[in-house]
Amino acid sequence: MSSFKTNEWEKTDQTEHNKVEPGALYLVATPIGNLADMTYRAVKILSEVDFIAAEDTRNTPKLLGRYGIKKPLVSYFEHNKRERGEYIVSRLKNGESCALVTDAGTPAISDPGEDLVVLCRQSGVKVISLPGPCAAITALTLSGLPTRHFVFEGFLTTARGQRKERLNQLSDETRTLIIYEAPHKLTVTLKDIYEAFGDRRVAFCRELTKINEEVRVMTLSEALSYYEEVKPRGEFVLVIEGAEEKAPEENGMSIAEHVQKYIDGGMTKMDAIKAAARDRGIPKSEVYAEVNK
Ligand code: SAM
Repeated sequence: MSSFKTNEWEKTDQTEHNKVEPGALYLVATPIGNLADMTYRAVKILSEVDFIAAEDTRNTPKLLGRYGIKKPLVSYFEHNKRERGEYIVSRLKNGESCALVTDAGTPAISDPGEDLVVLCRQSGVKVISLPGPCAAITALTLSGLPTRHFVFEGFLTTARGQRKERLNQLSDETRTLIIYEAPHKLTVTLKDIYEAFGDRRVAFCRELTKINEEVRVMTLSEALSYYEEVKPRGEFVLVIEGAEEKAPEENGMSIAEHVQKYIDGGMTKMDAIKAAARDRGIPKSEVYAEVNK
């Protein structure tokens, strides 16, 4: 058990429901900066499972040490996830219990935890998720942008052509959009977003829960000038205002222009026809006929 000083509630919490289940994988959300953001349940489960699978076996011991938890660790990360996933599942099938912690935040959100959950589901292994910190949700709640409806895009691909195509697909999305980005790629990504979306408000949520936490709301054009002067540092979540709600016809765009917009964004002609038909809610054949007049 943990030597972490617990309150009366935790000491008396011996309900069946909160006991570790043999053969289950626990997804344990961990702090995204502030080590105090651990839940009592997270500490309890990490203290009681048979072993912990960690994305970063150098950082996780620091967190475990902070809470006095000593457990065998196995590494599980992007480049060993296939064979290590099989190994973890075989131990789970033998009745051991395992907690998965990824680099920071909620496992399976933009990290290899996603693959382990798929493997467990395919193998009939029970998965239990402990809610906790997640950079996307923390950023969204701080942004001041609409939170009722939102889309989580995670990391955009680094392949420039595909990224532009993806951004063009997202450009009419009216819900608030959440993107993860590394600081050294931020300015290039901003240029691509600006090209695809035009000028929009973005909340740049940086170093969340850490000493240098910062939320800066700027338009994309302001941000491009700002980050030319100030080198982006630390971890970022971008929360982007959704597109204005209007039909393509209301933009005064003809069907041919609408298709061309997608082609200019890198789509093939057939994909552009499909996308324009979907946007307008009309048959592909109608768009095809119009474009080939
Ligand atoms: N599973 C994690 C979660 O629940 O948010 C995300 C893992 S993903 C590999 C890492 C990305 O999350 C970073 O590149 C950054 O975009 C974002 N992130 C993580 N911690 C952050 C923080 N403290 N402040 C801002 N963004 C953060």
